[in-house]
Amino acid sequence: MEKPNRVGIMGGTFDPIHFGHLVTAEEARINFKLDKVVFVPAGNPPHKKNYKVSDAEHRYLMTALAINSNPYFEVSRIEIERSGYTYTVDTLRQFVDIYGRDTSLFFITGADAVLDILTWKDVKDVLSYCNFIAATRPGYPVNRLKEKLAEIKELYGTHVYLLEVTAMAISSTEIRRRIKEGISIKYLIPENVEAYIIKNGLYR
Ligand code: ATP
Ligand code: MG
Repeated sequence: MEKPNRVGIMGGTFDPIHFGHLVTAEEARINFKLDKVVFVPAGNPPHKKNYKVSDAEHRYLMTALAINSNPYFEVSRIEIERSGYTYTVDTLRQFVDIYGRDTSLFFITGADAVLDILTWKDVKDVLSYCNFIAATRPGYPVNRLKEKLAEIKELYGTHVYLLEVTAMAISSTEIRRRIKEGISIKYLIPENVEAYIIKNGLYR
């Protein structure tokens, strides 16, 4: 296969993956003319210590099911096969190695993640490895996001692209809560992912 010129990277815990993630990746793909978007389920995320994250294999398989109908989407095992805590800086370094300098990488992050980007490990390197797309997310005001982008520019000289995404007020936390309480999650996540959750008794 020919080497792609423009590759999107969509990181997340995906516990479980939902339509907010999928629409964000698709709109980034279209707006930034990406050849593909690679979904990267996190291995052991350092910032999610307050609840027990599901087994990486479940999260990987749910992601694979969710992207199946989109020929431009892929899923990567890069993070779940790395031991220890998962840091974005290591992942981006690996992507640069894989694709080489001729490919433009675009890391796609939702507003909440962008707002705490300055706390990430080796943020200077993180920002130097690829382009960043900050996607709007319901509950996180665009103004605060714009202020943060200005701050990043001021501190590191990096321009982060702003992407206004079709608003989907969905979170994995809310989906886990609904399942626990026996409330329907229909039309919030792909049907095949819902079936996988039921079959494996997740989040109960
Ligand atoms: P949790 O509630 O467990 O934190 P989440 O719904 O926030 O789950 P993550 O896996 O933490 O999902 O998010 C992965 C990425 O997707 C992050 O960059 C996040 O900002 C973005 N994202 C998640 N949900 C949405 C949404 N509804 N709209 C836009 N971006 C989103
Ligand atoms: Mg989150």
